[in-house]
Amino acid sequence: MTTPAPRLLVLGAHPDDAEYRAAGLASLWSRAGGDVRFVSATNGDAGHPTEFGAALAARRATEAAASASVIGAEHAIWDHADGFLVPDLALREQVLAELRRWRPDLVLTHRLDDYHPDHRALAHAVRDAAYLVTVPALLPELPVQRRPPVVAYLADEFERPAPLRADLLVDVSEVFDDIVAMLDAHASQFYQWLPFNQCIEDQVPRDADARRDWLRAQTLERYAALADRHREDIVANFGVDGIEMQRVEVFEISEYGAPLTTEACARLLPFAG
Ligand SMILES: [Zn+2]
Repeated sequence: MTTPAPRLLVLGAHPDDAEYRAAGLASLWSRAGGDVRFVSATNGDAGHPTEFGAALAARRATEAAASASVIGAEHAIWDHADGFLVPDLALREQVLAELRRWRPDLVLTHRLDDYHPDHRALAHAVRDAAYLVTVPALLPELPVQRRPPVVAYLADEFERPAPLRADLLVDVSEVFDDIVAMLDAHASQFYQWLPFNQCIEDQVPRDADARRDWLRAQTLERYAALADRHREDIVANFGVDGIEMQRVEVFEISEYGAPLTTEACARLLPFAG
């Protein structure tokens, strides 16, 4: 019997959340022979300065498909409206069913405290489901998972109630082109919505090549800032190589899923060192 390929599930609230914080890990996971699935809990139909509703949701679904295809990942978008996600029993059951069906080894999602209410709602549903996935009486029609998956949080910059703990550091330098290609596929976000949200829309070049170069520079700057925030941990993890490292993704392991043991780390994340 062959061992099944390790499965990574990135559960984000919006269609670009998975790639924004974990495109590099996802790309490395896929290159190592593992399966990757991105799920967006909302359809993203509020994430644009001038477009909204069904037309924007359709546009974002097309972008999400193109992004996932860069690394051969699966993707799915649930039909909750953007900005309206609540951590109710229906969402908990939807997450539970997703875990039971896809049976991931590692789940990435938002932290429980975050600026966006959709992120917080999903994070709470995932925390609840991470334990309930082992309870046979709940959703008995789907085979129970005897052991919960490892759950890890996507990085954010928030300090309260606690800053992100860097439990898992992944050098993503070798897949940086994949990261940029995946973000570039989300044109409505990285060239329109996020620049508008940050009041820098006048900086985005019009020409496709030029705006991709701009996105690459922006992304490098964002990764470098993340690396600087976690420099001590990076040096502790990678030694002297870590002093200059800029393209690193950072994750915190949730205490509500399975622990990331040394054995699990070697099996699931052989590229992480
Ligand atoms: Zn989001």
